[in-house]
Amino acid sequence: MEAPLQQLHDPLFEQHDVTLWVKREDLLHPTISGNKWRKLKYNLQEARQQQHDTLLTFGGAYSNQIAAVAAAGQEFGFKTIGMIRGEEHLPLNPTLGFSAAAGMELHYVSREMYRKKQDPEYLEQLSLQFDQPYIIPEGGTNALAVKGCTEIVTDIAIEYDYVCCACGTGGTLAGIIAGLDGEKQVLGFPALKGGEFLKEEIEQLILNYNGQKYSNWQLITEYHFGGYAKVKPELLEFILAFQAKHNLPLEPIYTGKMFYGIIDLIRKGYFPKGSRIIAIHTGGLQGNAGFKERLGLDV
Ligand SMILES: *Cc1c(COP(=O)(O)O)cnc(C)c1O
Repeated sequence: MEAPLQQLHDPLFEQHDVTLWVKREDLLHPTISGNKWRKLKYNLQEARQQQHDTLLTFGGAYSNQIAAVAAAGQEFGFKTIGMIRGEEHLPLNPTLGFSAAAGMELHYVSREMYRKKQDPEYLEQLSLQFDQPYIIPEGGTNALAVKGCTEIVTDIAIEYDYVCCACGTGGTLAGIIAGLDGEKQVLGFPALKGGEFLKEEIEQLILNYNGQKYSNWQLITEYHFGGYAKVKPELLEFILAFQAKHNLPLEPIYTGKMFYGIIDLIRKGYFPKGSRIIAIHTGGLQGNAGFKERLGLDV
């Protein structure tokens, strides 16, 4: 399993004298997608070592994390439990249908209850209710996930100046920054509003991982398109054109917004001449089936 580098070509890049490569983490595994695979790797080892036979995680109805944990459980021999935010809707959407087919037991929790997902008392209660599962937080981010994400950059064999990555919880970006240990410039593209809060969270994740504080990174907060899972026609048009031009599949929640941002920054002359940029394709393409269904769109 590896993530090949794909170079993208566009007269715009020549005009601004930059090169852009995509690290195809989406190709790491057919169903445990991209960064979720990186985040799960050491967690699965830990779960096995602690002799858990069940994984429990949290997510919304279209969550990449839910689908990835369901697939990982099936492949590596764990039972899986998904705590799903909101009410059950039948028939199951493509994400939950996939997860159930992979053997995941789905439990629906009210939005109010779901907000307790990090509350120690609630986690203790779940632990008793489901016979001591290995609990993985929403989005998959914990210290072992950060460790796994350092490996996104430690195997890059070409010379480059910038790494770009989409952010949800920021766990993936924290791993990338820690993996580079002060080298290169790292740009994070939050898929949600509230970049300032996220910056502190990422600093804390890195600090917990290796005790370091780095200054070679920043969040580019202008490309969230209204917030998490919000899309605008402009974004969908961009994604369709981009996919057709570069033969590279994107999704509108994370990677679409990041590439929109990167192209816009190139157009605005943000990157110095000669810059070599690597964009991380974090995967998440399973979500597109649900998107098509909800919006009648062909992304
Ligand atoms: C979960 C996810 C992210 C966000 O990762 P964080 O570590 O939470 O920042 C980015 N891209 C895709 C495709 C994802 O599924």
